[in-house]
Amino acid sequence: MSIAVKDNICTSTMPTTCSSAMLREFTPPMDATVVQLLTDSGASLVGKTNCDEFGMGSLNIHSIHGAVVNPYQPSGPSNGELRSAGGSSGGSAAAVAAGFCDAALGTDTGGSIRLPASYCGVVGLKPSYGMLSRWGVVSFADSLDCVGVLGKDVHSTQRVYDRLSVHDPKDPTCARLETREAAQQNCAENMSSWASASGDLTGLRIGIPQEYFPDTLSHSILTPFRRLVRSLIARGASIVPVSLPNTTYALSAYYVISSAEASSNLARYDGVQYGLRVAVNPADSASHTTALTYTKTRTVGFGPEVKKRLLLGTYALTADAFDNYFLQAQRVRQLVHQDFMRAFIVSDPLSETTSTSAAPNPNGVHVLLHPSAIRTAPRLSPPNEALEKTGSLDVYVQDVLTVPASLAGLPAVSVPMKVGPSEKSSDRDVDGGEVGDGWPVGASLVGQWGCENMILRVAKAIEDIQNS
Ligand code: GLN
Repeated sequence: MSIAVKDNICTSTMPTTCSSAMLREFTPPMDATVVQLLTDSGASLVGKTNCDEFGMGSLNIHSIHGAVVNPYQPSGPSNGELRSAGGSSGGSAAAVAAGFCDAALGTDTGGSIRLPASYCGVVGLKPSYGMLSRWGVVSFADSLDCVGVLGKDVHSTQRVYDRLSVHDPKDPTCARLETREAAQQNCAENMSSWASASGDLTGLRIGIPQEYFPDTLSHSILTPFRRLVRSLIARGASIVPVSLPNTTYALSAYYVISSAEASSNLARYDGVQYGLRVAVNPADSASHTTALTYTKTRTVGFGPEVKKRLLLGTYALTADAFDNYFLQAQRVRQLVHQDFMRAFIVSDPLSETTSTSAAPNPNGVHVLLHPSAIRTAPRLSPPNEALEKTGSLDVYVQDVLTVPASLAGLPAVSVPMKVGPSEKSSDRDVDGGEVGDGWPVGASLVGQWGCENMILRVAKAIEDIQNS
């Protein structure tokens, strides 16, 4: 298989820049475990892919290499527009969508695989937290970072995932063998009643969380989503309305926690051990050379989005703000996790190790289904919608549907939905929604921890529906 690798995953034969001036010249001395596993199984690495600097962004516009252009070619009037490939794994999604490789590795801290997968029309899997090794993956926010796979279809995504899903003693957060086996058995038992070879989905309970349809959700997403739900019902699946009441607070909690962790992680880029060093002439400043080297190096090496997060994260960890911001965000994180646990019929295999466990719900669901994004890919070309809005909160809101599963450490996959050719926005379909703009949109499935096989099975059923 040909595989591309996001440029925040270490490769000994190619530079690993994290799309940052800080690491522009950095070639690591080793391969990340995930890279090693792929090359050991005969995969060919076709190259490294552009990303938002250190994984921070949703549109892949924060990069020393420039923005990633979405290669999707819709038919109809919007053809020729330059649109964002999504971020932060935009280069990986674009490489798969353009046919440069069968699959690509990405990282997902709050949605960085699922959002670009949705914008580019490919499959994107964020595994359960701790399922794939992070050894050799440049840290953004350790308690959320996951390596995952973008693939041209569910089959290639699963193939790569299966190869990488092993315990790595070098990563202390990587799930142990016993935990993996317990999760797999748990998952298989809960699939036995519905996962038949015939494609009939009778017995499968799919939850649709009511909080995942905010006012900002575009009608061009709702129409294919409703169509998909009708097809799943026609195949025998039961659709169950579900409430995840703490979803509203997830985005704010995510940005506090991820920025706080980033402010600590990125402290290592100080111009001393590796990466950029902006030297200070001792003659200019005899007394504070070291501190000045740190300051100058970090001022030049980090881009504006990274600096913003580091300032926010450092503030959230100060004595004045810690209780009101960081601790409060951790409490919200627990509530978000509990919401998910209450929704599933499948028990949590980690319940003995987490304090947030809840008994599984006998009337619960096997998987949750919701749109992956609130809109199709934003424009890059003038009028520069994406770039103009980077100062506003709009760009952060793109993650509103992906962040909750990240906070809860649950597996999630985005699979493309069928979209029609672009038509005038005044055209309406049978449900009264606007017909889409011709650009791809994804549907996301979220499962219990360790239920990758389950969500991929349902993703395959969705893929078959789209192709039928
Ligand atoms: N867009 C989110 C952020 O900027 C998620 C990034 C990610 O998943 N790496 O933090």
